[in-house]
Amino acid sequence: MTLVRVVGAESAPVVLELIGAAFGARAPLDPPTAALSETLETVTAELGAYGGLVAELDGRPVGALIFEPVGTAVGLRRFGVLPSAQGRGVAAALVDAAESRARELGCDGLRVTARVELPATIEFWEHHGFVDVEREGVNVHLVKLFEQTLTAAGPEDTQRFAERLAPLLRAGDLLILTGDLGAGKTTFTQGLGRALGVRGDVTSPTFVIARVHPSLGEGPALVHVDAYRLGGYAELDDLDLDTSLDDAVTVVEWGGGLAEGLATDRLEIAITRSSGSNPVLAEDHDPRHIVVHPVGLRWLGELEKL
Ligand code: ADP
Ligand code: MG
Repeated sequence: MTLVRVVGAESAPVVLELIGAAFGARAPLDPPTAALSETLETVTAELGAYGGLVAELDGRPVGALIFEPVGTAVGLRRFGVLPSAQGRGVAAALVDAAESRARELGCDGLRVTARVELPATIEFWEHHGFVDVEREGVNVHLVKLFEQTLTAAGPEDTQRFAERLAPLLRAGDLLILTGDLGAGKTTFTQGLGRALGVRGDVTSPTFVIARVHPSLGEGPALVHVDAYRLGGYAELDDLDLDTSLDDAVTVVEWGGGLAEGLATDRLEIAITRSSGSNPVLAEDHDPRHIVVHPVGLRWLGELEKL
C-alpha cells in the first residue's frame, strides 16, 4: 500500500535521489529539465522552506514532490515517481496528499507546470482536476482550485449564499448551476439578482431560454439561461450569449456538461438535496448541499472573500 508523508529538510537525500531516478529515466527534453541540476544543497533549502511529500510503497520511497507557495495556491515542483512503481496509484496518492496538505495550510488550490512535449503528463493533471490556464514557451501552467461545500437549511440560506457571492462577481463571469428539478437553482439566482440589483423578477425561464436583467445601477446585467431545454452546446452557442457574456454575469441553470465550453473561468455550483435524488424520499424542505467548484485563474484567491 502507498503511504504519503509530509517531509522537511531532513529528507533531502531521499528526495534528491528520487528526483534523479524519476527525472533521469525520462526521455531527454530540449531545453533539458532543471530537475537534474538539483543538488543536496538546493533540495535541502527548498524542503526547509516549505516542505514536501515522500510516497512509500511497501516501506520503500518511490515518489516525491516539493511544495512552493504561489500566491494563495501551493505549487508542486519536482513531482516524480520511480518507473518501477508507476501504474500503482502512487502519483494519484501524491496529488491527494498535496491537496490535503494545501487545504491544511489554508490555501485554495494547487499549481503545477508541465512540459508541452509531454501530453500524457498534461493528461494526468487534467484527469486529476487541473485545468490548463496558460502556455508559455515549452511550459504549460495548470491549476486546480479546491471545492467548497456548504449546507443551506432552507431557501433563505441558499439566497444568503448568493448574496455573499454577488459582491465578488463582475461582468464576464459565468456561473453554471447543476441539480435536479426543484433543487434550488432558480431560488439561488433570485437571491443573486436581488443582490446584484437587476431589473425584473428572476423566474424559471420557462418560455424563453435566456432572459437578460439589466442592472438598475452601475453593476453588470444578469443573463439567466435555462439550458435544461437546450439540445446541446451548439444550441447554447446559437443564443449568441457571447455578445452579452462580456457585459453580464451569466448564470446557466442545468448547464453541467454543456456550458463549460463557453469559458475556462467559471464557477460550477452543484445543489443537491441532503436526502439524495430519490423522488420518493425527497422533500421540498430538505436541506441542500451546495458544492462550489471554482475553475480557472479568475477564481484563484477569490472565494476566500466569501
Ligand atoms: P430549480 O431551479 O433547481 O428547479 P427552484 O429554485 O425553482 O429549483 O425550486 C426549489 C424549491 O425548493 C423552491 O420551492 C424552494 O422554496 C424549495 N427549497 C427548500 N429548501 C431549499 C433550499 N435549502 N435551497 C433552495 N430551495 C429550497
Ligand atoms: Mg429552475
